[in-house]
Amino acid sequence: MESERELIGQLPVKLPPGLDPFRDWTVEEFVQLDEGPIDPAMQERHRIYSILLMSIILDGWNGNKHGEVGDYGQWRVDQKIPQAVDVYRGGSYLGHNIAALAVDAEGRVIDYDFNHNEVFDSSVEHAESRLVRRVFALNQVYDLWQGNEGIPHRGNAATVRQPRQLFATAVTDRADRVTPRTPEKVSSGYSTLLSDVTVYTSLESCAQCTGIMCLASVKEVVYLQPDTGQFLIGNIMRRATKEQKLSFTAPRPISGREIGLRYYDELAEGAESFDANVGEEPFFRSPTKTINGPSLTSYLCTDDAYRTFERAANELSDWSNLAYPDFRPATAESALSNRQVLDMAKDFLEYVLTVKNRGTSHRV
Ligand SMILES: [Zn+2]
Repeated sequence: MESERELIGQLPVKLPPGLDPFRDWTVEEFVQLDEGPIDPAMQERHRIYSILLMSIILDGWNGNKHGEVGDYGQWRVDQKIPQAVDVYRGGSYLGHNIAALAVDAEGRVIDYDFNHNEVFDSSVEHAESRLVRRVFALNQVYDLWQGNEGIPHRGNAATVRQPRQLFATAVTDRADRVTPRTPEKVSSGYSTLLSDVTVYTSLESCAQCTGIMCLASVKEVVYLQPDTGQFLIGNIMRRATKEQKLSFTAPRPISGREIGLRYYDELAEGAESFDANVGEEPFFRSPTKTINGPSLTSYLCTDDAYRTFERAANELSDWSNLAYPDFRPATAESALSNRQVLDMAKDFLEYVLTVKNRGTSHRV
């Protein structure tokens, strides 16, 4: 039995045809994407959504990864409740300080969502994954029954055709821009519904989230902090799917560095420094446990990370002068200008601060 298993283990993996062109590539060549630099006006636009997302995270901030009572040492001094002994602001921990934001073809914010691992006692309730499911679901919420073709109407001969899609995509309003990867396979709108959607995520995506965004054919994913533990899976999936005749393509990953987001390096360096020092200075101590291992999500509870998110939020509220106020991406004629995007971002933040929910709390 043992020898049989060894034999199976030794069978060479047969390369699927789609990977054949890369047979002789190095790993470095494979993960290096050659999609060109991003136009400075587009960079400015991406930065507006990025700091909006950081502002939303600041509003929903909760650093009590190991409870609100205990000792987080030097890491969370500023988050202590004054006059209380070792009690920290934020209440119960709902999930990590990671969120994602979806933006449609015209530049309108569709929705946002937070990581909710703790709420659901699960390691897969990630922001991007939740958000993609949420956006698909939103598309069905107002599926007006009278608008559906094939349903008979009495009395009123004129059928009011309600568009299924609530947000602007290539599919909804610009038939000429529909470019499904393999038209013969596309039988329903869902496969291209998100093909003009940009997802902003505060942390580089994992395999699950890259996978779900790939299956959803999300156009691009802008990430504000690197996560080296994910093996550049976004780049790998992009490279593997881009030139293929598939019904889906992984989104183009765009790092904060590519859009001139100063907080990208700040967060990367902060996390690195945390990992280097947490062994000596534990992240958390209580009578029953000591947490002193490197962890990105622990770093995202620290005062250092908080201050970076705070700087971003301040930048958004102070931001009035744009270098490219009239810029509109060529992808949609009806797209908002950068000036309109900035105004909308401030309004959207106002809405988030008012409704005070940490993204959608239900499972989607
Ligand atoms: Zn994920």
